[in-house]
Amino acid sequence: MLSATDLYKTYRKHKLEIPVLQGLSIHVEQGEFLSIVGQSGSGKSTLLHLLGTLDVPDRGEIHFEDKRLDSLSKDQRDYVRNQLFGFIFQFYHLLPELTTVENILVPQMIHHGIFSWLRHRGELRKRAMDLLERMSLGHRATHKPREMSGGEMQRAAIARALINQPRILLADEPTGNLDESTGREIMDLLHDLNRRDGLTIIMVTHNS
Ligand code: ADP
Ligand code: MG
Repeated sequence: MLSATDLYKTYRKHKLEIPVLQGLSIHVEQGEFLSIVGQSGSGKSTLLHLLGTLDVPDRGEIHFEDKRLDSLSKDQRDYVRNQLFGFIFQFYHLLPELTTVENILVPQMIHHGIFSWLRHRGELRKRAMDLLERMSLGHRATHKPREMSGGEMQRAAIARALINQPRILLADEPTGNLDESTGREIMDLLHDLNRRDGLTIIMVTHNS
């Protein structure tokens, strides 16, 4: 489904060069739950950013099915990213001034644009509420992030990642900021999305 071949990525700042990926290849099948484990600083986030079109490699190719992603223009990548990928991160990145349900709807507002959004917002809000129920967060719809626990914020972030019905979920250390039992809940949720819904998931974690 998603394949990257011979990826190279070096960060450059002033005269300093930080080579991160040097000829990495990876192939992900539809329905797979792929975990990538590595030390802090080994390039896991860099890899997810490249796979998810948030950044481009210096060399190498990335294909989703028969579509080449790495050679697209920035606008095309923005469009494709919104269609194909959902992201979750260690620190949730919810917008603090929005309620849970508003946070979840942000990707749909971006996807639709203002007029289409206004026409469809009733049904989209219903979709957001259904996702919130699935994440056992129905009772937190109108709460703001600061009023929620870490596990609740991560479940809200998962709902936000799913609202556009992505083909692949990219997860960057999704339990890294949670205690062990809450982390296990999040992992159970991800495994459930993979098994029951067939969602393809690529997750990176650091080894401790
Ligand atoms: P990981 O997620 O495995 O901890 P990263 O992909 O974040 O690793 O980082 C890999 C290396 O690249 C690290 O040495 C990091 O300092 C460096 N790095 C990451 N992002 C940048 C950037 N935007 N500019 C310069 N160096 C970066
Ligand atoms: Mg990282």
